[in-house]
Amino acid sequence: MIKVILWDVDATLLDFKKSESLALKKTFAHFGLENCTDSITEQYSAINQRYWQRLEQGELTKEQVLVGRFEEFFAVRGYDAHAQSFCEVFESSLPDCVEFIGNAKAVIEALSKNYHQYAVTNGARAVQRKKLAVSGIADIFDGVFISDEVGYEKPSVNFFKHVLANIPSVDTNEILIVGDSLTSDIKGGNNMGFKTCWFNPQSLPLKDGYTVNYQIKNAEDIFDILKFEG
Ligand SMILES: [Mg+2]
Repeated sequence: MIKVILWDVDATLLDFKKSESLALKKTFAHFGLENCTDSITEQYSAINQRYWQRLEQGELTKEQVLVGRFEEFFAVRGYDAHAQSFCEVFESSLPDCVEFIGNAKAVIEALSKNYHQYAVTNGARAVQRKKLAVSGIADIFDGVFISDEVGYEKPSVNFFKHVLANIPSVDTNEILIVGDSLTSDIKGGNNMGFKTCWFNPQSLPLKDGYTVNYQIKNAEDIFDILKFEG
């Protein structure tokens, strides 16, 4: 029986792509760069994603990811802009652009009556804190765990050990982790023996090396899983 649900935040509960794109447009305007079109946003997104994967694989530090992605992006586009300053303005405007994916907010509100729920998220401390507050997630959940504060990133066992040490005692198989990332959320759940639920709205093919107990396309699909688990 599931007692605890660990939720990834970005691209699982919150539409990170939408807020990223809005924040990028705002920051482009702030620095007087060209009009930030959708294709420019996509170009940035691809670079950004690669940098976060390299963090998960232990190749880069958080600071190297935050600034490095913009250094590469500016080099590719030929912009004469200061990556560090750009990054600071971008990060500070991100949390003001939060938006839930589908009915995610109603779902976590409904579940809060019967389950302990926690946010487990990799990201910059200030940004994630603000996002969790602005979105209301911090009020709905029983707690939040941000990699920056924990000192370890998902999928590290140390990250989740910290979570377990700071929530009421529960068996690992009574924990369900829900997330969109195989490499951080599902891998992290597998490392710990949690039940795993892959939020996979685009029906991407499952890759080798991951144990996925459930797949969902919408947050509300989780009700069926919890019913099945008893
Ligand atoms: Mg995510």
